[in-house]
Amino acid sequence: MNSKFLTFHKDITDEYSMADKQHSWAVIEKQEEIIMYGPYYPDYSSGEHSEDIIIKQTQELLEAEDFPEHWTVYVFSMNSPCLARNTDPCMLNLVHKARDWWSMYAVKTHIGFVRSWGFKGNKENLFKNVNYRQMEIITHCVDYTSYIESVDKMDDLSPLCETVFSVAKDLLRAEQLKFPLISTEEKQEQKTHFKSMNCMLESKQEDEKKLLTKELNMLVEAAHLLLLGENQSLEEHMEKGKVFSLTYTFSSEVCEGLREEMRVRFQQCWMVTVQDRCAEFVREKLTAEFNQRTVQLFIEDIHRLTRSYLQIGKLKL
Ligand SMILES: [Zn+2]
Repeated sequence: MNSKFLTFHKDITDEYSMADKQHSWAVIEKQEEIIMYGPYYPDYSSGEHSEDIIIKQTQELLEAEDFPEHWTVYVFSMNSPCLARNTDPCMLNLVHKARDWWSMYAVKTHIGFVRSWGFKGNKENLFKNVNYRQMEIITHCVDYTSYIESVDKMDDLSPLCETVFSVAKDLLRAEQLKFPLISTEEKQEQKTHFKSMNCMLESKQEDEKKLLTKELNMLVEAAHLLLLGENQSLEEHMEKGKVFSLTYTFSSEVCEGLREEMRVRFQQCWMVTVQDRCAEFVREKLTAEFNQRTVQLFIEDIHRLTRSYLQIGKLKL
């Protein structure tokens, strides 16, 4: 299945340069001819997913033929067809259609994808409770029992289930958990970081406020370069921020007292940024793992019923 998809994928990417974002295309393979259609992209404003177009097109192509017997339909989707949305999810729609096409035309269907989307992809929020404090406790506890004991002592934390605990513990134990401080989408909006430093301005006189605002803006701009650096461990990121705050050159108008205050504020701010990002990274990993397992379990289940006419699988491109 993989090699067929690879050949089609090469043909279609030679013709269209597709980005990494979600798209679908399909191929109908006849005895002596192949028909390719797509790529199609989702239109989220109207709630249309790219697989919706594929299903419609395939249906039309099959209906237009007198004897579409023993053909094979190949459906490619960058992300695995969704398992949940506010109307019928694409994965179930495709499974139903594959059954129809098999029973009506003896047409087999193959579905290939590159990334496991699961139910809701990166919008999955099952792990929103895994924050940095949870992670600290997970790291320090030897087992689930001691973890529960620790969490019970805290009023504002609720315990994670054992499975999430052990997967998170494995992630955190991973020799060196290296992560970027900023995701690709965030690169544009630098001003949202270090915003909490602005509370320094509150107690200041007007003229001092002006100078300080200018100085803070320059500091934030310089610090932004630190965020763009390579993947590093939590300790390395922390150290980087500390070194930055100690070696940063303030303008000569800023007195030593203010400099010291800015250094301290910056270090606090930096620590929170790094810890939040570390927790976010672990949540992303948990989500990716969850999505992968979800799709895998779905495929195993559905194959028991559809083995003779439907194959679904992750592709290695
Ligand atoms: Zn979908």
